[in-house]
Amino acid sequence: MIIRFVLLFIIVAMLLWLVKRMFGKDPVTDEIEHQDASNSEDMRQCKFCGIHVPESSIVTSNDNPYCCQEHADSDQQ
Ligand SMILES: [Zn+2]
Repeated sequence: MIIRFVLLFIIVAMLLWLVKRMFGKDPVTDEIEHQDASNSEDMRQCKFCGIHVPESSIVTSNDNPYCCQEHADSDQQ
């Protein structure tokens, strides 16, 4: 009698695992996809120090790209 109960439990657990695999999204895969999206962002080179910075965090001064406001100011002097 107890063996039947254990078998039923295993079958239910396997079904739940299968359903999770089919419909649930793996959080690790989700994170890798997110990283790929951020890596595809355009990189710009700082005119002052030459470091590569994502387009969204670039500081533009006189149409030149800089990694930070400090380098933009330093290059103007
Ligand atoms: Zn810089």
